[in-house]
Amino acid sequence: FTTASVAEELITPPVQISYTQNLINGQFVDAASGKTFPTYDPRTGEVIAHVAEGDAEDINRAVAAARKAFDEGPWPRMTAYERSLILLRFADLVEKHTEELAALETWNNGKPYEQSAKSELPLLARLFRYYAGWADKIHGLTVPADGNYHVQTLHEPIGVAGQIIPWNFPLIMFAWKVGPALACGNTIVLKTAEQTPLTALFAGKLFHEAGLPAGVLNVVSGFGPTAGAALASHMDVDKLAFTGSTDTGKIVLELAARSNLKPVTLELGGKSPFIVCEDADVDQAVELAHFALFFNQGQCCCAGSRTFVHEQIYDEFIEKAKARAMRRIVGDPFKKGVEQGPQIDTEQFEKVLRYIKSGVQSNATLLCGGDRLGSKGHFIQPTVFANVQDDMLIAKDEIFGPVQSILKFKDTEEAVQRANTTRYGLAAGVFTKSLDTANMITRALRVGTVWVNCFDVFDAAIPFGGYKMSGIGREKGIYSLKNYLQVKAIVTPLKKPAW
Ligand code: ADP
Repeated sequence: FTTASVAEELITPPVQISYTQNLINGQFVDAASGKTFPTYDPRTGEVIAHVAEGDAEDINRAVAAARKAFDEGPWPRMTAYERSLILLRFADLVEKHTEELAALETWNNGKPYEQSAKSELPLLARLFRYYAGWADKIHGLTVPADGNYHVQTLHEPIGVAGQIIPWNFPLIMFAWKVGPALACGNTIVLKTAEQTPLTALFAGKLFHEAGLPAGVLNVVSGFGPTAGAALASHMDVDKLAFTGSTDTGKIVLELAARSNLKPVTLELGGKSPFIVCEDADVDQAVELAHFALFFNQGQCCCAGSRTFVHEQIYDEFIEKAKARAMRRIVGDPFKKGVEQGPQIDTEQFEKVLRYIKSGVQSNATLLCGGDRLGSKGHFIQPTVFANVQDDMLIAKDEIFGPVQSILKFKDTEEAVQRANTTRYGLAAGVFTKSLDTANMITRALRVGTVWVNCFDVFDAAIPFGGYKMSGIGREKGIYSLKNYLQVKAIVTPLKKPAW
């Protein structure tokens, strides 16, 4: 593999960790228990900060603040235009602090700095501007009911939103959750992932600088079974949005049901197929399939983790896929040109290595990689398996790492049928020159997103979410708004017929 040489330029802008306490009611405060937990640099495994460890009591305090900010205002009663201006000011502040935020994101998560700074931070600002645009365009309908009635609907904010996010895209997940909730006039308690608490606290600070009233956005750091479970089961939380693993999704859905039946949206795991048809330009298909899997160290819920390749081009494809993986530049994510940093933590690192072992044991052909890279941090060699069979664990489970599994197929119907044989249904990629083939496959796949001749396009306006066990509901776009709105029907008798 191409490892980034030490001589290469480090592009780390100066960054310091200013916010480690919980953000409750507009103030940074210690955990009620006084406890903290360490957060790490995945490049080295070294502790970079100690963060307030929120648990049930901190969630109670944050929910009380959000409840008050919702019930007493001013947030839900401000004009929609005033709310949209705050979102726009936040987006401006994100741009102003891009380097610091991107550096903090990379330091705590391990993703390449260039990806954080050039792709994710611009997307963050864009997402909030998109939702600022929605704030003053949310309204109900006038309904033509039978009888002599004037009937209208109001689209009202749902109340206090509880939001639980994962560690793979800390700021992007913050945006997908917070953007629509605020645009619709809700208040929020957000629980970050225990691996990556830092950037959401910084973003919360910027929101207050942008003029967000106290209590509207509360950010609590802490662990899932304590802080996360307290939020999911809280009686005063009106809605829950969760992104994470399918197993945890089941837990939070149950907690929500057992407490106050709060509606839940879930964005969960995937095992997305990437189907390369026989008419594909092999070089282009290899590059895109590589990106679809290896992007973000393979830590994407929608990663194209089953690369289905037509038998006519299979041999050429696997040789080139191997060569591309061997060229992947792995190393310190703060170095220029680095494509792949470390996995997030020891647990994920070991899990990925276990799946690689399982691939070898099940007789898939290991074309390259297969081990850790170096002896420090959580770096894994870009790994490619060929001759993967549908019933192998590496073809069924979400690996969440830099491990590409290539499967051979004979005809398109067979590829679609096999692609659909999974409990997941998050996304898929199709690579073909034929419009007819693309049309057939896109309609037949049981997934929430199909990218044709592209992958991982995450525009703010495009809805994202899963079929089957990949989730419930859609985030982003117009579809995300209804997650954060209640519909109220108002029926008034008309004293005289309308005309
Ligand atoms: P991963 O396996 O990728 O870490 P999880 O689904 O466990 O994914 O984590 C996603 C988010 O869910 C994190 O914020 C985590 O703290 C939270 N979480 C984990 N377990 C629970 C739980 N029992 N209740 C509520 N939230 C949880």
